[in-house]
Amino acid sequence: MEIDCIFCKIASGAMGVPPVYEDEEVFAFGDIAPVAPVHILIVPKRHIQSAHELTETDAALLGKMFSAARKIAGETGIDETGYRLATNIGPDGGQSVPHLHLHLIGGRKLKWEH
Ligand code: 5GP
Ligand code: ZN
Repeated sequence: MEIDCIFCKIASGAMGVPPVYEDEEVFAFGDIAPVAPVHILIVPKRHIQSAHELTETDAALLGKMFSAARKIAGETGIDETGYRLATNIGPDGGQSVPHLHLHLIGGRKLKWEH
């Protein structure tokens, strides 16, 4: 756990943030500032700064993160209407928390903004 990392703390359970989904390697929770009716963050429990740090050795972890997204989409009822999975990388990519996270966003029609 990175000592000053908010998502490490949340994923460890220390902050009391309720999990939307959890397994040995993955923790998912509601975004504090949701941009849509469904806005969940899916993070690895292990600290990884961003998707840029991923390698082939993380294939199983990525499978778990995407599988978690699929389950959450089903449970929140947006699997039929569709949703977005996004991960921002670095300052120009709009990443504000330097711990890898997938945004799962849905429940309304999304625009594509650049
Ligand atoms: P990024 O900008 O790095 O792609 O996404 C970070 C996301 O984390 C933002 O959508 C922001 O609202 C959310 N966030 C930041 N701090 C916290 C927090 O302490 N708790 C929760 N639940 N979400 C947070
Ligand atoms: Zn972290």
